[in-house]
Amino acid sequence: DRLPVRRALLSVSDKTGLIELARALAERDVELLSTGGTARALREAGLAVREVSEVTGFPEIMDGRVKTLHPKIHGALLGRRGTDDAAMAEHGIAPIDLLVLNLYPFERVAYRPDAGFGEIIENIDIGGPAMLRAAAKNFAHVAVATDPAQYRGLLAELDDNAGALTASTRYALAVAAFNRVAQYDARISDVLSSIAEPSDAGAAGRAAFPAQSNGSFVKLMDLRYGENPHQQAAFYRDLWPAPGTLATFSQLQGKELSYNNIADADAAWECVRQFDAPACVIVKHANPCGVAVAGGCGEAYERAYATDPTSAFGGILAFNATLDAATMRGILERQFVEVLIAPDYEEQALALARKKANVRVLRIPHGGGRNGIDVKRVGSGLLMQTADIREVGRDELTVVSRRAPEQRELDDLLFAWRVAKYVKSNAIVYARDGRTIGVGAGQMSRVVSARIAALKAEEAGLEVRGSALASDAFFPFRDGIDAAAAAGIGAVIQPGGSMRDAEVIAAADEHGIAMVFTGVRHFRH
Ligand code: 5GP
Repeated sequence: DRLPVRRALLSVSDKTGLIELARALAERDVELLSTGGTARALREAGLAVREVSEVTGFPEIMDGRVKTLHPKIHGALLGRRGTDDAAMAEHGIAPIDLLVLNLYPFERVAYRPDAGFGEIIENIDIGGPAMLRAAAKNFAHVAVATDPAQYRGLLAELDDNAGALTASTRYALAVAAFNRVAQYDARISDVLSSIAEPSDAGAAGRAAFPAQSNGSFVKLMDLRYGENPHQQAAFYRDLWPAPGTLATFSQLQGKELSYNNIADADAAWECVRQFDAPACVIVKHANPCGVAVAGGCGEAYERAYATDPTSAFGGILAFNATLDAATMRGILERQFVEVLIAPDYEEQALALARKKANVRVLRIPHGGGRNGIDVKRVGSGLLMQTADIREVGRDELTVVSRRAPEQRELDDLLFAWRVAKYVKSNAIVYARDGRTIGVGAGQMSRVVSARIAALKAEEAGLEVRGSALASDAFFPFRDGIDAAAAAGIGAVIQPGGSMRDAEVIAAADEHGIAMVFTGVRHFRH
């Protein structure tokens, strides 16, 4: 079941690694066939190549729309060696043993915001998928490469196998080719389903949610189990992950990531990357239990940790700046950490981490990208929404109390607001001087969340007096404000919009609390 490779067809849009591969094949006495642009690139590199149009006796026509759609090519890819030899001989079809092909860059073009409709349509590859399917179906006799990342392994195997490819490699390559064609067609279907009329309106004219949604995800890893040990799980990422999001991580050391690690790491990273100043976020069970900004990572960590040292144990720690050695030492000496996340690490910090081999250390390079769509399964259905990436600026705040917040209070209000966005509802966050003082998360009533935040502050020995309070949604009654006032809260930020806003504002005024409305709600479930 070894396939000696004597003739290869090269037809690639992405010419990465093409010349190196072609040269290596030529050195191994493989005859090269190629389509127009690819042949030109090969010839320019001084390689001997036969054009497909020479083989078919038919020119490439219609701006390349028809290049390889010919029985001489498809017969060469689909012919079963042994079974179809007579037919191939009769029609002068010479077998192709290896197809190296990557498709027109439909995805890249279609996701460019300024891409015109005509350009999108022109980037639908026709002959490419047909050849991929032909070669992949005929994996018993043909090998197919779809990605420059496969070239090196392919050449290594040819060398180890006296110029042949094994059946198991050909099968794996065929499966990869079918995956690629499926991804490609799914993207075409998604993009066109989001465009109601053929027009050059670009991305702005497209629906966020196409009538048909196929999604394309790539498995990053199988996970040991899901949220609980009796559940199976895997981690997939978007085919084109947004830069700066969790899915672009690399794990530098540590135990295998678990399902819960990944979910918590996402919350920690998304929360911490909001801040400009060095910041630290500690997450437990999907909620931040301590958040702080400071002059450096070390101080940010100390202040985040102090919010809730009990919960911080076994936490997920995220930083938005390069983690230095002193901070790393401080963390590792003091507490058990499940996962550490930072955009980068000092070399010395990594050396320290290596002494605690179990700690999972992730690097996520900064980038301005955001996941645009959130997904949640319900029954046998799917709920989709655009992600909550709304940020509230200073100038959007409306002061509703008699007393306006001071500058210091305003800073704390906005800090608390950003944290509250990442706390499960009902979320109440107490903050002061760029650090959380207490966090009340995931309660069914807002007033209980407020009491929990106060309780947390008391347990940690932190003074609530003069702190800011953020509430992810409006206060339905004045009791939440009364509870906050009793704890010593000085200023409140909340969306507003309750039927009883007047009663809530009156309560704030009674207690001398400064209150601002955002007009934006951040439920998180
Ligand atoms: P080249 O740069 O060599 O001119 O073109 C390479 C690209 O053409 C590859 O991406 C390949 O998938 C695509 N291709 C090959 N044959 C055909 C065909 O018959 N029709 C179309 N539309 N594309 C083809």
